[in-house]
Amino acid sequence: MEQRRTVYMDHAATTPVRQEVVEAMLPYFSERFGNPSSLYALAREAKEAVEEARGRVAAAIGGRPEEVFFTSGGTESDNWAVKGVAAALRKRGDHIITSAIEHHAVLHPCEALEKQGYRVTYLPVDEFGRVDPGAVEDAVTDRTILVSVMAANNEIGTVQPVAEIGRIAHDHGVLFHTDAVQAIGAYPVDVDGMGADLLALSAHKFGGPKGTGALYIRRGTRVATFMDGGAQEQGRRAGTENVPGIVGLGRAIELAVGEMPRSSARIAAMRDRMIRGILDAIPDTRLNGHPTERLPNNVNVAFRYVEGESILLLLDSLGIAASTGSACTSASLEPSHVLTACGLPPEHAHGSLRLTLGPGNTGDDAEYVLTVLPGVIERLRQMSPLGGR
Ligand SMILES: *Cc1c(COP(=O)(O)O)cnc(C)c1O
Repeated sequence: MEQRRTVYMDHAATTPVRQEVVEAMLPYFSERFGNPSSLYALAREAKEAVEEARGRVAAAIGGRPEEVFFTSGGTESDNWAVKGVAAALRKRGDHIITSAIEHHAVLHPCEALEKQGYRVTYLPVDEFGRVDPGAVEDAVTDRTILVSVMAANNEIGTVQPVAEIGRIAHDHGVLFHTDAVQAIGAYPVDVDGMGADLLALSAHKFGGPKGTGALYIRRGTRVATFMDGGAQEQGRRAGTENVPGIVGLGRAIELAVGEMPRSSARIAAMRDRMIRGILDAIPDTRLNGHPTERLPNNVNVAFRYVEGESILLLLDSLGIAASTGSACTSASLEPSHVLTACGLPPEHAHGSLRLTLGPGNTGDDAEYVLTVLPGVIERLRQMSPLGGR
């Protein structure tokens, strides 16, 4: 009998919660269940745990604890940054600069603001998915209030020159937000080095729980309150804190950042072996994203004459979990906005496969995928109405 393997290679969509993180969280569901705002020992214990986690997040990104605000995840953090700056600086300006390949958590808030009368410039990217910092400079006007460019792209893994973009924004007195959801744990993230006034992160992308994230807000940055209610999070994001989630976020970011130098190097070597193996073994294939400026865990390749969804179905039947693009868009049959912005022709964009590696993946996992993938693509091409071989 064939032994069924399970290979999870969709870490850009989400990651398993690490055992150490689960253990750190557990007491805060039950015996340490206090509301941090209450006034007794049980509450103080919860409050202290939240503040300890805040310190860990701050340390991981080079910020101060009072600049870290807990949220319900990357989507909320991005929404808060974009809409919060837009609302707070409405009198000063109405223009926002972002890129065409942002996550929908940035793009859709920008589109919502356009309906309210703001103007948004969606910067193009080159064929590798890079934003040209010079284009940021050219787009700035005296009405510009915010530049928002992601640190690294979730689909193609391209890493952006954010330090340069942040410097340009500041030279013009404009705030800079970066969606660093994919960057945490992949390479060093430092809010000062990146020139970030705002930075979004999400626990479930680096071994923490879903539904927990943070927004870094540099001291003195004007951002409207996101949730009105109680006085939590310095009165800027009301709602009883998700104490177990916050504790999990703190532990996960500490582990991910601490282990990064070794784990990133190992994962990048596996990534490179997979990219080479796929391009060598399968004809009419190209790499999506940047050849070198890319996340250590991202493999994204386009196969001509096949549909990405069909690849996923066959891979799933072989126990391999992968993705065509971002999990948020894969329910639609539109070619991904990221691949389209990179100028990929539709026949390539439709046949793209994203494999994102994680600390749990082994060399055997990589070999297994490299062994079965050529047959999968060959089979689909033989059945393909799109032509091919
Ligand atoms: C996953 C992701 C988000 C959304 O984060 P959630 O915590 O899932 O809401 C935002 N931006 C990027 C780049 C992501 O990969």
